[in-house]
Amino acid sequence: MSSQITAYVALVCTSGVLNLYLCLYAFVKRYYYTNISNLFIFYTVSITIYCFGSAFGLMATTLEQIKFWTIIEYIGMPFAPPLGLLFVMRYLGMKIKKKWCIALLVLPFVTFVMVATNDFHHLFYRKLEVDPILGVPYIHQEIGIWYMIHGVFIFSCMFVAFLLVLSNWKETAKVYRPQLISLMCGQLVPMLTAFLYLIGMTPPGIDPVPMVLWLSSLLYLWSIRSSRMFTIMPIAKDAIFNSINDGVIVLDESYRVIEYNHSCKKMFPQLTKSMFGMDFDDVWCVLSGDSFPFELDTTEFSREIELTANQSKHIYQIRTSVLQHVNNCKGLLIIFTEITELKRLQIELERQAYYDELTQIFNRRAFFQKCEQQFAAAKEFSLPFTVILIDIDYFKKVNDTYGHDVGDQLLMHVVNVCQRQLEEGMLFARYGGEEFVLALKGSTVLEGEALANQLRQQVETQALVTDEGVISVTLSSGVVEATKGEEETLYQLLNKADKALYSAKREGRNQVHVYVGA
Ligand code: GH3
Ligand code: MG
Ligand code: MG
Repeated sequence: MSSQITAYVALVCTSGVLNLYLCLYAFVKRYYYTNISNLFIFYTVSITIYCFGSAFGLMATTLEQIKFWTIIEYIGMPFAPPLGLLFVMRYLGMKIKKKWCIALLVLPFVTFVMVATNDFHHLFYRKLEVDPILGVPYIHQEIGIWYMIHGVFIFSCMFVAFLLVLSNWKETAKVYRPQLISLMCGQLVPMLTAFLYLIGMTPPGIDPVPMVLWLSSLLYLWSIRSSRMFTIMPIAKDAIFNSINDGVIVLDESYRVIEYNHSCKKMFPQLTKSMFGMDFDDVWCVLSGDSFPFELDTTEFSREIELTANQSKHIYQIRTSVLQHVNNCKGLLIIFTEITELKRLQIELERQAYYDELTQIFNRRAFFQKCEQQFAAAKEFSLPFTVILIDIDYFKKVNDTYGHDVGDQLLMHVVNVCQRQLEEGMLFARYGGEEFVLALKGSTVLEGEALANQLRQQVETQALVTDEGVISVTLSSGVVEATKGEEETLYQLLNKADKALYSAKREGRNQVHVYVGA
């Protein structure tokens, strides 16, 4: 064996041994790694077979032996590029369907069968013979149609893998870029060598690719050992970051924008990568047209903010979370959660809880809550406090004569007429079926009586016009003022108003009675 061939065999064996080592390493540690290691194991197995087949081929002494080791080589070689592509895809966090895997491996399998049966059809090598000048193990070959198909396929696999890695360059944080470089070179080295071989720029008669594969293997080895390629998959991590529904902006220790996720871009379409490195305050100005309303420091907070974009109002909950970097610098995460719908529901629920569905004025629950506060405030500041209970006269008759629907219309009509007479700060609520209550902080009983009479007259004179006819009703009211200096509860006060109302009813209705004591 010439010293040149010995050198070739040594190089090819180095590639084979390194790949075998990589394969065993990933196999032994496969339980610690994510499932990308499975594809990596298949990938390195195929290269190992390729390299050792090639090494034995170089040591062959007859054409028959060369042919035999070529077949062995092809058990691995055609599968390596598609497996490399699948490995890269998995590394980049892409979902790989089983169908794709099978589709990608069909062609290599056919290639293997073609090589193994070439003597019968000559579709792979039209001619394969010992080089007439250089002798064994150098060969002279003329390629067949399937060789070309196979060549285009493996080039495409390596090229697509290379492009996929390249296209993720921008999105990948700087610390992980060496991993990308080693992946790209891992694809580029065999691709360029095979290309040079095809255009005749490598030593003739032998396949140079296995001689350079040790270089790719060393790069992979470095990635796995020192930059933890299998345990830290930057792109997969990015995929998680980008799949979060909340918008996230990452700031460095000087509160400059260094990253944002896809949800954030959706919330704020004006965000661009060119804003990386800008002060968050300046970025926020661009996004909202205003300065950021909260102080950014290392105390974490949660606030709400309302923004108008494209004429629609959005409410966000903003949370911050301190980010401890490796080098002890503190960064900040700003997390935006869209709560517009939640707020709308909350407002709707509050409305349902505090407002009467039919008349849209406060209900009994809201009245008691608010009235207790006003009553307490009036007591504290020694202000007069008057309550009026109002009841529609003979309302049942309206229901009985015109039906419940018209009864409802009348209730709304009475409320509208009354509301037009009321001033801001007067607490008006539906107390029961056709009973209403008014609380007047700062008004005396005389003022209350006057207002009750005003309401009574307005309702009496403003009839409701319906399809069924014109309906007019009257009101009866009971008025009472809280006794100064006396410990009186709201319930006691309302009880007195009720007594006055009862008296107004008893005296013939359509009148206002003031509570005059027991
Ligand atoms: P009075 O002058 O003594 O107050 O007589 P009235 O008929 O007004 O009083 P009564 O308490 O006998 O009847 C009140 C009626 O109000 C009975 C009930 O069916 C009706 N009512 C209560 N709530 C509603 C409502 O939301 N819609 C309608 N249409 N009717 C209601
Ligand atoms: Mg009534
Ligand atoms: Mg009643």
